[in-house]
Amino acid sequence: MDVKKILEDSSKYLMNTYTRFPLVLRKGRGVRVWTADDREFIDFVGGIAVNVLGHCHRNVVTAIQKQAQRLVHVSNLYHTEVQVKLARILVEHSFAQKVFFCNSGAEANEGAIKLARRYSKEKVGAGRYEIIAALNSFHGRTFGSLSATGQKKFQAGFEPMLEGFSFVPFDDIGALKQAIDPRKTCAVLLEPIQAEGGVKVPSPDYFKQVRELCDNTGVLLMLDEVQTGMGRTGELFAYKHFGIKPDIMTLAKGLGGGVPIGALLATADVAEAFVPGTHASTFGGNPLVCAAAVATLQTLLEDNQYMIEHCRRMGEYLRARLNAIKEKMPEVIVDIRGMGLLQGMELRRPCAPIVKACMERGLLINCTAENVLRFLPALIVKEDDIDAALDIVADVLERLS
Ligand SMILES: *Cc1c(COP(=O)(O)O)cnc(C)c1O
Repeated sequence: MDVKKILEDSSKYLMNTYTRFPLVLRKGRGVRVWTADDREFIDFVGGIAVNVLGHCHRNVVTAIQKQAQRLVHVSNLYHTEVQVKLARILVEHSFAQKVFFCNSGAEANEGAIKLARRYSKEKVGAGRYEIIAALNSFHGRTFGSLSATGQKKFQAGFEPMLEGFSFVPFDDIGALKQAIDPRKTCAVLLEPIQAEGGVKVPSPDYFKQVRELCDNTGVLLMLDEVQTGMGRTGELFAYKHFGIKPDIMTLAKGLGGGVPIGALLATADVAEAFVPGTHASTFGGNPLVCAAAVATLQTLLEDNQYMIEHCRRMGEYLRARLNAIKEKMPEVIVDIRGMGLLQGMELRRPCAPIVKACMERGLLINCTAENVLRFLPALIVKEDDIDAALDIVADVLERLS
């Protein structure tokens, strides 16, 4: 394989929307990937929280192979057993009674925004269409989800944004209380943890207070669990940590174990606002991706949710090792925070050079919010892998500081 030619053709033929690293990835197994020129890497990016079961997990691969031989796609004008089965598993393990399938996180959030507006108009009153989201949030790149994203840098050049969105600081219940206007507000949209925004974890009682506030004002609570869902935080969905239930939840990233699928979940009452003709997706929930998602969920849930329990333990192990590095280097590291296997290490300097140096040493790691190293290994990660990865991180931090 001509790596140089692939890199050249990449910049020649692909739109220039990513700052890509000069690696051509060809193969993956578990938490490791290999390049076209056969270099091996420990993967702590995991497709940005997508590969929850690692690369090419047997159950997911087999499910895709079997389904591909039987039926890849049919229109949502018809039923398929596998789509219904996936919806049933999601309902049985969440607050929700109804599911709509789409293809990505942004799309799931579009659906959530549409559902909230329609619910409010149908069941509450025509004037209520405003959605309150958080500053520093991330909900996707389509116009609705981008309008709900509380970071100007993602919106720059695409203005005007859609009408009907306002923003409050995350983890500030007083600000939310002030912002909610029962005549105008139809929903609050929040991430359980602001992941893209630098792995910001709210205080333990924040979501309880948000729930209470929403209940008292008749406003819907929508949680964007696109990144925190699917066991990532040590519960199947992160809201389960907080002792509350949302009215609407969005999923994508890890849901299909690597294939593009998104989902919008809601209570029966809220879901009634969608009737035939109000929302749709050609590919949404097609048999191929649903088969992969069923295999992923079943694997996470089998043996009494062993994998999620494992994620919790590995999260603690990772956290302890990150804290040990921080103790040794307080002049470099500001903070360690996260839940389960979504952990962030905030540095006093930009982390791009750290990411590059880690790559040279065989570790793929992501940087978010400029100075936060984000650790997103697959849930199947083992102590050895964490040791290997963090040895590299510690060494690189020591050398570069
Ligand atoms: C990644 C992400 C999205 C966007 O998902 P896409 O599949 O890229 O559209 C939305 N919300 C959150 C919290 C995310 O992490």
